[in-house]
Amino acid sequence: MANPSLLILAGDGIGPEVMAEVKKIIAWMGARRGVTFDVAEDLVGGSAYDKHGTPLHDDTMAKAQAVDAVLLGAVGGPKYDTLDFSVKPERGLLRLRKEMDLFSNLRPAQCFDALADFSSLKKDVVAGLDIVIVRELTSGVYFGEPRGIFTEGNERVGINTQRYTESEIARVARSAFELARKRANKVCSMEKANVMESGILWREVVQDIHDKEYPDVALSHMYADNGAMQLVRWPKQFDVIVTDNLFGDILSDCAAMLTGSLGMLPSASLGAPMANGRPKALYEPVHGSAPDIAGQGKANPIACILSFAMALRYSFDLGEDAARVEKAVEQVLANGLRTADLMGPDGGTPISTSQMGDAIIAALDASL
Ligand code: NAD
Repeated sequence: MANPSLLILAGDGIGPEVMAEVKKIIAWMGARRGVTFDVAEDLVGGSAYDKHGTPLHDDTMAKAQAVDAVLLGAVGGPKYDTLDFSVKPERGLLRLRKEMDLFSNLRPAQCFDALADFSSLKKDVVAGLDIVIVRELTSGVYFGEPRGIFTEGNERVGINTQRYTESEIARVARSAFELARKRANKVCSMEKANVMESGILWREVVQDIHDKEYPDVALSHMYADNGAMQLVRWPKQFDVIVTDNLFGDILSDCAAMLTGSLGMLPSASLGAPMANGRPKALYEPVHGSAPDIAGQGKANPIACILSFAMALRYSFDLGEDAARVEKAVEQVLANGLRTADLMGPDGGTPISTSQMGDAIIAALDASL
């Protein structure tokens, strides 16, 4: 069988710095676990604009469509702030998501015990937290027509349309049920069926897909406003939450902060299965290019490394190795090793980006 393939798009700012640490883990997987990836690299964002005058070259797009998974660092920076909207670095990322049709955005909120004090919530509420929000990413109110600012009589009116087809709801529901089967087998679907017709349809379709295809998964429904409240009241009641684009945007940011630091948050965006059965997939840290610390060896590489762990689990069915990487991260943090963003009130000496990567590799070695 051919080796699994990866396209690395490290991007701008701290993107290449954190991605350098992921490359160490990729090399470790080949050397110590016998899983060798075919790795290609290319440009995205500002670095692509500098070379090609576009944030994503067509050749890069074609490569992204052909590989098993894309690993992305981060894009953007002050140098590009004045560019025309059509060639801004973020457009490269949006093009990838759109053309790969990545409709299912997985945002885990996992709280490592060693960092439980970083959350704004009480330690016992977040310690050991491990949930995933599945957000529909390609439809809903951010895309629905009609949209715009119009004039009605003597005043202006702003319009956006929440629109979901049954098939759009069904495919993201399936993605959540599949995910739940690899976890604690529980899905909570969130909408506003009490006030929105699109919410009524959402609830019906999710229930229908459950009853016909995933009766073994425990399914519950919740209004999204109650969901927000429950997320900060007792987040450990959830396993997988599935919700639409707008509510998912808000709820996933809320859940992310339960865990404390932006430098810790991975994500996956998945699409339909390819011919080899693997889903179209893009893995990236939630954070941006952090121009304020770029080039200083201060960036925390853990979000990017945990994004690669998600690739191992969701693209390559290597759940055991994904857990091994996550445990190595946990071990390093438990040993008190911290990048600057994770320095708490207890002080300590921060380690650099590459020292963090090396420490995780050492913990991986020790796990064998
Ligand atoms: P940011 O996420 O880059 O940074 C916010 C703050 O968090 C900064 O103080 C930064 O130093 C810190 N931070 C972020 N990641 C960190 C890490 N791994 N380790 C340590 N500290 C970290 O957000 P921003 O400052 O609003 O945006 C900067 C640039 O990134 C902008 O051009 C923005 O458009 C872009 N951006 C890109 C993405 C993406 O590529 N997906 C996401 C968000 C922002």
